[in-house]
Amino acid sequence: MEDCLFCKISKGEIPSTKVYEDDDFFAFKDINPVAPVHVLVVPKKHIANIASLTAEDADIAGKMLYAIQKVAHILDLDKDGYRVVFNTGEKAGQSVLHMHAHILGGKEMAWPGV
Ligand code: AMP
Ligand code: ZN
Repeated sequence: MEDCLFCKISKGEIPSTKVYEDDDFFAFKDINPVAPVHVLVVPKKHIANIASLTAEDADIAGKMLYAIQKVAHILDLDKDGYRVVFNTGEKAGQSVLHMHAHILGGKEMAWPGV
């Protein structure tokens, strides 16, 4: 999608610190990390957020969890654990309308955290 920051990053049109890439997904370091490890996983297909998924996106949505697992493994987070966050919509604070998972790790995290 034109004028979408994460479409441009996943195509390499805007620089990022890439962590992982396959045919369907791109993962890169968050520019403003809120944890020692903070990586974003995005589908290459432009989907605004979970709320706008359609039945046709079910395959990519399922594969995204598996991509998140692979990225967490690359980041060496398997043993200590990690948090996965999908901010969805305005009140959740979603600032980029291209679906993305935040992988957060490298510290002890409180829960509930809202
Ligand atoms: P959200 O607020 O859930 O939509 O998350 C968007 C995230 O994108 C924020 O954590 C930002 O720090 C991050 N972000 C914005 N621009 C960039 C960029 N150019 N490269 C990497 N991360 C970015
Ligand atoms: Zn996009």
